[in-house]
Amino acid sequence: MFKKILIANRGEIALRVIRACKEMGIRSIAVHSVPDEDSMHVRMADETICIGPASSIESYLSIPAIISACEISGADAIHPGYGFLAENAKFAQILADHKITFIGPDPSHISRMGDKISAKQTMLELGVPCVPGSDGTVNNLEEAKLVSHKIKFPVIIKASAGGGGRGMRIANNHNELSSAFNSARLEAQSAFGNSDVYIEKYLGKPRHIEIQVFGDGLGNAVYLGERDCSLQRRHQKVLEESPSPALNHKTRVKIGDICASAMKKIKYKGAGTIEFLFSNGEFYFIEMNTRLQVEHPITESVYGVDLVREQIQVAAGMPLSFVQEDLRMSGHSIECRINAESLPKFVANPGLVKTFHAPGGLGVRMDSILYSGYKVLPYYDSLIGKLIVHADNRSLAISRLKRALSEMIIDGIETTSDLFSVLCENDEFQNGEYDIHWLEDKLDTPEFLDKFL
Ligand code: ADP
Repeated sequence: MFKKILIANRGEIALRVIRACKEMGIRSIAVHSVPDEDSMHVRMADETICIGPASSIESYLSIPAIISACEISGADAIHPGYGFLAENAKFAQILADHKITFIGPDPSHISRMGDKISAKQTMLELGVPCVPGSDGTVNNLEEAKLVSHKIKFPVIIKASAGGGGRGMRIANNHNELSSAFNSARLEAQSAFGNSDVYIEKYLGKPRHIEIQVFGDGLGNAVYLGERDCSLQRRHQKVLEESPSPALNHKTRVKIGDICASAMKKIKYKGAGTIEFLFSNGEFYFIEMNTRLQVEHPITESVYGVDLVREQIQVAAGMPLSFVQEDLRMSGHSIECRINAESLPKFVANPGLVKTFHAPGGLGVRMDSILYSGYKVLPYYDSLIGKLIVHADNRSLAISRLKRALSEMIIDGIETTSDLFSVLCENDEFQNGEYDIHWLEDKLDTPEFLDKFL
């Protein structure tokens, strides 16, 4: 087992990994930017190294700075968390060249899944159902027209290198195609330095359902059920739950088996998430994330597993600590993303947190970077905490969430927490009747707006 793990990240995910290291008796090394000196991950780690200024490019994204920190501290492995370098195949390869273990999949899998076109082609070959669309890159408007007529409007034009909901445009008809195609390509070029786009059928009111997979790199792989991440704003997840209110056991097993067998075939190593749109009872693959997800705790809650410990063990060459038959889903879990943003427009709202009180009690988990007196920085992601509840069933989980939210105090800055209290009172949410557009539509209604103005 590793003696020292360096965490190439910050925020709540760095904290999550440090906690796993402590429980495993592994020394943790936090890297941080200059303004992050007072951050929770720096306070909680066994050793700390400053790697650069506020700008992520010069700190959390600087491969030379992170490799130097690794060499100075004598770390034998790096956990990348999510975001930053977590899905950077070049980084994983450089670590391999330096004989430092990357806690994640092989660089070849990261790069294959990082490009959405090659990811889709791979998944099709592995028998995973995909959204109908172009065979690969669509190079010009003529090709775009041919594909769109074949799959029929509406269509969505998406960046091959896409992420974070950028580089996507919808065309409802022939007239909208040209400007949608051109602006998707322009946005893809400026956001990702790669203008390649592809086209998919635009699914009207799907749910976003993703399957957690785990492999040992030797050909063993399992699935750990699904997470329903349909509650989104601007393609960003806001609240996630497991199991999905839309799936039954039979459907779960069917898609789970398809995903696990695909991962066995490619000998996938570590944690991965296969994202689908779910519409009219059918699954359509959209992308795979070759890392731990923000919302992994809801899977941990319903399966009673520690996914970060598992990642570390598998990276150290150990076999998976469970086989599919050992994995049983129990109860219901919900995660709320608490962002330092003001409602109803989700405007970033960093600043000093005068008082913080975390909720507790049975079935409540708070993964947060806050403490009273902490100053939320303007340079980074606005996620400051995740409130996760677990209970025997969905309705009890919602009651528990309401109770936990009522206990939580974050004084000094505005956060998104009030949104969840409003959601808990909403009939459609209570009945699990929502799709990927539902929240955005609701946010424009007096029921929601009046509460936040
Ligand atoms: P990104 O990597 O930028 O997050 P994804 O491919 O994961 O892009 O898609 C993000 C979101 O965009 C999805 O959760 C969904 O809301 C919407 N979306 C993507 N593809 C389609 C599609 N074919 N039809 C309808 N909505 C889509």
